[in-house]
Amino acid sequence: MLRRAVVLLLALVVGLGFDTLAALAAQPADPLVEQGEGRARVETKEPLSGRTIVIDPGHQLGNHNYPAQINRPVPAGGFTKPCNTTGTATNGGYPEATFAWQVSRLVAKRLRDLGATVRLTRHSNRQDRWGPCVDARGRAGNAIDADLKLSIHADGSYAAGARGFHVIVPPDRAPWTDDIAAPSMRLARAVRSGLQGADFVVANYIAGGDGLDVRSDLGTLNLSDVPTAMVELGNMRSAAEARVMTSPKGRARYARGLVAGVRDFLG
Ligand code: ZN
Repeated sequence: MLRRAVVLLLALVVGLGFDTLAALAAQPADPLVEQGEGRARVETKEPLSGRTIVIDPGHQLGNHNYPAQINRPVPAGGFTKPCNTTGTATNGGYPEATFAWQVSRLVAKRLRDLGATVRLTRHSNRQDRWGPCVDARGRAGNAIDADLKLSIHADGSYAAGARGFHVIVPPDRAPWTDDIAAPSMRLARAVRSGLQGADFVVANYIAGGDGLDVRSDLGTLNLSDVPTAMVELGNMRSAAEARVMTSPKGRARYARGLVAGVRDFLG
């Protein structure tokens, strides 16, 4: 009799499956309410929950104060390059490092509000700080297997009438970026759409004229093992674009466009 009961019990366990039993055991007191709230939270408030995004604010405000550190050669993807550069500025003296920092902070905040885990490659914008170097920026998403890494810059072209944004992507180049070229291009196109949706125009001074530029000379892109793009948000030497970049409203619009692009890429 006892043996038969054990066999029956075993049959019940096998029939239900251990997963089902475990789920039953783990169920909260009021599963319907819990489940309902959980679903609402995931779908309406935190669409980027579980995503990891690296934002790389270009340069650092104090780079020009540390020429020895900044000029030290570092690996950049089959060759070496200086650790970092000082970046450009508007004619009025608003530095690229500060613009990149301010926009990056807005982007990071919005992405975190959407549920994403966001890592920044630098944590300050100060005259008494330098770096990080391009090799560290390049690898910033690798160990954490980030969903993407977006590097934020602005350009400084003195060409007459030069304006607009462009997005730089790595080429299909083994053994460095052949593995990320295709998804990086998808990211770049999504970012371009996002910025266009926020009423920004593609650069009129970059070959191709489509707002996309493929470059193999950037350590920040070459050393990445995760999809990556570098965006030059505009030309800081253009008086019209400088006005947008130096205004909080303008920076918020840049951030909106970038976040829309990231969300589009992540689906
Ligand atoms: Zn830059």
